[in-house]
Amino acid sequence: MKKTIFDFNLKNKRVLSISAHPDDEVGGAGGFLLQAQKQGAKIHLVLAIDPGEERREHSFEEERQKRLKEFEKVGTILHAQTTYLGFPRYVFPSVDRIRPLIKVMRKFRPDIVLTLSDEERHIDHRAVATLTKKAIWHSGRNIFPEYGKPFRTQLLLQYEADNPMQDITFLRDISDVAEKKRALITLYASQMQRKDLAEASLSLNRFRGLMFKSGTYSESFKANSFFYG
Ligand SMILES: [Zn+2]
Repeated sequence: MKKTIFDFNLKNKRVLSISAHPDDEVGGAGGFLLQAQKQGAKIHLVLAIDPGEERREHSFEEERQKRLKEFEKVGTILHAQTTYLGFPRYVFPSVDRIRPLIKVMRKFRPDIVLTLSDEERHIDHRAVATLTKKAIWHSGRNIFPEYGKPFRTQLLLQYEADNPMQDITFLRDISDVAEKKRALITLYASQMQRKDLAEASLSLNRFRGLMFKSGTYSESFKANSFFYG
């Protein structure tokens, strides 16, 4: 498949990120988000799944609060608006889960939506990708009048988080913000303690940059446009 270096300016663009967990968005598209912020885009980060989890070292609630705080901190650095949906793990993409996403989309009116790739193995990553696509579609249709007028997003970019993606259609050179991306991922200290996500992500970006000759570090995306009937 033809791969395109995706370097358009993000000035005045409205970028909506929908992730499963705190850290997905910076691992997969942290460079893109930092460039968007630098170029004057408006950013809205939506966190779908409840990050609470019982751990040996602390309670469900402590884990939840710690991870939500990290997510908010990243939102502040990106000058982003944040929304937390609190969906349970193993979420089923039902209409009740799509509703809050339609509400956000019709209110924020994004030019670009970012979410996880369908190729991710994590079941909640795939569920959030499905929910996002369904919400984009339904947001553009003349239904759910309680959330306002239909809004049609033109571009969905799916990124690689836990698993390298095969079906790449766009690359973005993020070399100018690579070290800032590393610092941004490091803000997820609770996750960095478990494994070095910053090094893993930047190493994949380096691989993409070399293999596709798109700068020193490059993020990969699958682009989807929607033909609304
Ligand atoms: Zn995740």
